[in-house]
Amino acid sequence: MPLTGIEIFKLLPKTNCGECGVPTCLAFAMNLAAGKAELSKCPYVSEDAKAKLTEAAAPPIRPVTIGVGDRKVKVGGETVMFRHEKRFDNPPGFAILIKDTMTESEIASRLERFKLQYERVGLTLRPEMVAIKDESGDAKKFEALVNKVKQNSDCSIILMSNNPEILAAGLKVCADRKPLIYAATKDNLKAVVDLAKGSACPVAVKAPNLDELAELTTELTKAGINDIVLDSESRTLRKAFQDQIVIRSAALNKKFRPLGFPTIVLPYEMTNDPMKEAVIASVFVAKYGGIIVLSDFQGHNLFPLLVERMNVYTDPQRPLATKEGIYEIGSPTENSPVLITSNFSLTYFIVSGEVENSKVPSYLLVKDTEGLSVMTSWAAGKFVADTIAPFVKKCGIADKVKHHNLVVPGYIAAESGGLEEELPGWKIVVGPREGAKIPAFLKTYKP
Ligand code: SF4
Repeated sequence: MPLTGIEIFKLLPKTNCGECGVPTCLAFAMNLAAGKAELSKCPYVSEDAKAKLTEAAAPPIRPVTIGVGDRKVKVGGETVMFRHEKRFDNPPGFAILIKDTMTESEIASRLERFKLQYERVGLTLRPEMVAIKDESGDAKKFEALVNKVKQNSDCSIILMSNNPEILAAGLKVCADRKPLIYAATKDNLKAVVDLAKGSACPVAVKAPNLDELAELTTELTKAGINDIVLDSESRTLRKAFQDQIVIRSAALNKKFRPLGFPTIVLPYEMTNDPMKEAVIASVFVAKYGGIIVLSDFQGHNLFPLLVERMNVYTDPQRPLATKEGIYEIGSPTENSPVLITSNFSLTYFIVSGEVENSKVPSYLLVKDTEGLSVMTSWAAGKFVADTIAPFVKKCGIADKVKHHNLVVPGYIAAESGGLEEELPGWKIVVGPREGAKIPAFLKTYKP
């Protein structure tokens, strides 16, 4: 059983030095008990206390990493039920399904579609995983397919079979990629445990209900396997969704260790309609799928899921922000316009896109507004004359242009007078309110 906050407090040094980031040992103990702090943050815990606290300090949902390199996926490690309580940390991995009964051309086209990726607000959105499923029952065929996927892609791999011999054939080829072994069941537990131990790879465990699932994970942890992913085997949206919530609640609210692992969900087994499948997947992006296996990737269903994932897993307390500085668009010269905007990523990408559309080479100054948009940062006093002027002076734009004309967003027209006072020698020009009007404005504007 995990320790309570008071039990943990008794084991701490009680000096209230504050080095752990909270003012008192009691507050730190409470955070540890709630899974919101790491024991390593306190440098003064004795070895004896450390041993006793290990259980309490372990994250309520174990983080599990599948794969290696750029496309590795870390799932689990979550500490809250709701994103607004803190944030969700580890986004779910998306996997495309490839079966060993598919034709060569179908396999090749799926590997091609795995490469789909999109740029949005400066981030590259792309899937990470390929789920290779044994349907033939032929270990050689499965092994050849795993090898082909490995040679043609840097994906993280899920090996899917109930037959330990077939899983072993796949592992022989790709154990160095740290694939997820899917799945241990009541019937093959011992053999799959041996595979997971021998390869040090994570393992998924599958059972028809949560009680049996908890029994199997208890067996696995007793055998020394801790990197576990849960499949509750529910194949209707309603039941699978319910399971996700019960699993997370049991792990976080009841500290029930046997269910304290990330999950895998298979929307492709819940419907034959690709659009419905995408909608089902979107539910598990929000709550609380760890790995989501799709029958296929098509731009029109993958892109919305990737964007949803990015949005849900963006820290609500830290908006996406662009680095403060001078951005050159086109090849600006000393006579080019100078515009300024806030560093909310979406604002930056809209404004820079419209400046680019205008085909007028320009300098775009991006002021750090803590990721807030123009209007919000202006209302919060972060994008006003007093803060903009020091940035303009120190950023070095005055050395890059002959003129001293600064175009400000129309929404902060009220700051013009203050800016001209704070920036002697500069002329403030009020630009458009909306990004879409920037191209027309720049075509006629002469600094
Ligand atoms: Fe207490 Fe350790 Fe935090 Fe200091 S760092 S306040 S000793 S828990």
